Amino acid sequence: MNAGNVQYAVRPVPAATLPIAGSDMLFPIHRVYCVGRNYADHAIEMGGDPNREPPFFFQKNPDNLFAGDSFPYPSASNDVHHEIEMVVALKGGGVDIPVADALDCVWGYGVGLDMTRRDLQAKAKELARPWEVAKAFEQSAPCSPLVPAEKIGHPSRGLIQLDVNGERRQAGNLDQMIWKVPEMISCLSGLFRLAPGDVIMTGTPAGVGPVSRGDVLHAHVEGVGDLQVRVV
Ligand code: MN
Repeated sequence: MNAGNVQYAVRPVPAATLPIAGSDMLFPIHRVYCVGRNYADHAIEMGGDPNREPPFFFQKNPDNLFAGDSFPYPSASNDVHHEIEMVVALKGGGVDIPVADALDCVWGYGVGLDMTRRDLQAKAKELARPWEVAKAFEQSAPCSPLVPAEKIGHPSRGLIQLDVNGERRQAGNLDQMIWKVPEMISCLSGLFRLAPGDVIMTGTPAGVGPVSRGDVLHAHVEGVGDLQVRVV
């Protein structure tokens, strides 16, 4: 694309991207939306209501997503938790998208980790402060290469599980989501203008817990893929 004669006052940071499985193309990331407490058993373990309260959302930064095999333990926390999540990548967008049309916006899927500074999140909850310091830190969202829906369809059931050092820590099924992917897209589009390149992290099943340097996390979503990262 021709950028014309635009001159920037400072050097622009390159756009955030994720790799695409089996392709040299990259997926450009616009925004990252995350849904909270979207599996009933995880809502209960976090002290919430497992019923269909309206979904709530928070955001990570686009460049928090990355496809490397190392997760650097972040500063300022002694209680960093893993949350395995299915990642939805959008090719379309808009506002007020009907549930029935929502899957037309989906480009593909991935396996991600919503890494969380749980101690800072607990303090933020206690003080009714925002969650960014708990959720939107550097490399807080390791992610697998994305796979297009053209190849795998739109997964609505299948195992979602996380092993730490070979031991199963999180296990659930995509069909346990309280708010399904089309409902999440429709709801988000009533709050934000969705756009191609937006990514949605769809919540985590029960079993979240702390990680330590040296741990190897193996995340698997049936029909989508695998992600392995070492905490360094
Ligand atoms: Mn999460």
